[in-house]
Amino acid sequence: MIQRIDHLGIAVKSLDETVPVYEKALGLKCGHREEVPSQKVRTAFFEAGEVHLELLEATDPESPIAKFIEKNGEGIHHIAFYTDDITGQLAQAKEAGCRLIHEEPFEGAAGKLVAFLHPKSTHGVLTEFCTSK
Ligand code: ZN
Repeated sequence: MIQRIDHLGIAVKSLDETVPVYEKALGLKCGHREEVPSQKVRTAFFEAGEVHLELLEATDPESPIAKFIEKNGEGIHHIAFYTDDITGQLAQAKEAGCRLIHEEPFEGAAGKLVAFLHPKSTHGVLTEFCTSK
């Protein structure tokens, strides 16, 4: 069952340029930074109440984030729902006719298991399910 919105993913060209903007303009504090080699991204997390912001910078031109920015420019990239049953959530989405980008959850940022639904199946929103390991 989905329990909350965990984070919003935001595609940016440069963490070094963007992190200070979020810190100075919004007064948020960067919690931690991390590289996720499997997704070819570097991330920086901010806490905004119970929801986090995940800034995403590509580490490779073939990164999904580089491709997203090329097509859409910087901005909101995905919405992530925290669930206590990621496998069940994927099965439910598949049953409802959604196209899964990942049939099986894999290790994402912040030590969580994640999996994505294709935005064409969710009316334009790249949707992530995440859960604690
Ligand atoms: Zn995410």
